[in-house]
Amino acid sequence: MASSPDVIVIGAGVLGLCTAAELGARGHAVTVIDPGGANASSIAAGMIAPALESLLDDLSPDRAALLKRARDLWPSVAGSYGLKLHRDGADWRGANAQAASARLQALGFDARPSENGLTTSDDWRIDVGPALTTLARAPGVTMVRGRVARLLGEGRRWRVEGGDGRVWFSSTVVLATGADPSIPGLADGVAAIVSGVQPIRGQLTAVVTAAPPRVVRAADVYVAPGEGGVVIGATMEPGRRDLEPDAAESLRQVKAGLALLGGDGEAGAVRVGVRGATRDGLPLAGPTGEPGLHLALAPRRNGWLMGPLVAQVVADGIEGRAPVSDAAALDPLRFA
Ligand SMILES: Cc1cc2nc3c(=O)[nH]c(=O)nc-3n(C[C@H](O)[C@H](O)[C@H](O)COP(=O)(O)OP(=O)(O)OC[C@H]3O[C@@H](n4cnc5c(N)ncnc54)[C@H](O)[C@@H]3O)c2cc1C
Repeated sequence: MASSPDVIVIGAGVLGLCTAAELGARGHAVTVIDPGGANASSIAAGMIAPALESLLDDLSPDRAALLKRARDLWPSVAGSYGLKLHRDGADWRGANAQAASARLQALGFDARPSENGLTTSDDWRIDVGPALTTLARAPGVTMVRGRVARLLGEGRRWRVEGGDGRVWFSSTVVLATGADPSIPGLADGVAAIVSGVQPIRGQLTAVVTAAPPRVVRAADVYVAPGEGGVVIGATMEPGRRDLEPDAAESLRQVKAGLALLGGDGEAGAVRVGVRGATRDGLPLAGPTGEPGLHLALAPRRNGWLMGPLVAQVVADGIEGRAPVSDAAALDPLRFA
């Protein structure tokens, strides 16, 4: 079987699907190829959290502003697809709340003292399952189940070979394969960029308990509404790709999370995913230098926050439009 869409997106995580939906909205016929099943995007907490991410990672004002601009693309995306964006803010709990408030305000974020810390209205949240399902059904987007085994440049087109013998052709391919190793067939330069993406394993635990009105975070744990209660997470384990749940870590997480809430709960499923990350913590989004090959990779622990911005940058690159100002910071060739 062979087909020839305008654009082939390989990978149906939040980056691949946001990019596919954006391209579909711009009138392209897009095929997304993915084996199906859980990925980092589907197990994530769905926080769209420029404020507390900037605080936790001690980001510069420029970087914090970039995260905020990425977040500000979400209302339009959510509105276009009828997704519920939870703009409830987030609570921060910690002994250093006053300093944290001052830091957030200096970065241009809202931060108000609360009983045990601070509250910011600048962090939002999305329900990841419904969002992925909806984006996969966006106009112009066709989903295909399969794993791409080889990607070959053939003159002005790409030959995309499935592991089961199927073949697709397109002049334009977007690699949105998460933290997975490079697909065979890629030119050395691009393969090196993809291989440079660092895997960071992350684990969270679903807990049946009364959900707080908004996300609650501390330095080593967060509690986010979701899955009929809350999800409590998440570990950051650089260099690990294994998906086996760690029961002892889950117990620690749940205890710390419930202590934040001051309540009881019943621990449920433990979920593990692998994030891809670059050494500066920002995604790789845009053209690779190989004609027609674009990347949408490595948003570290901010894939949901960054999805619409990555989509915009990649779609602009495909269409040859003048890049938005944030495109330079995401340039896939910036480490070359
Ligand atoms: C525990 C945890 C909690 C998180 N919480 C948050 C959060 O609250 N907010 C936030 O912004 N981010 C969060 N993140 C980070 C976020 O989940 C990731 O940054 C994001 O999901 C990465 O998206 P992606 O599209 O790059 O990759 P993925 O979601 O991993 O998707 C990549 C897809 O590509 C497919 N693929 C790979 N190779 C091939 C191939 N050869 N052929 C076809 N398909 C292929 C894979 O099967 C997969 O479906 C969290 C992550 C974890 C692990």
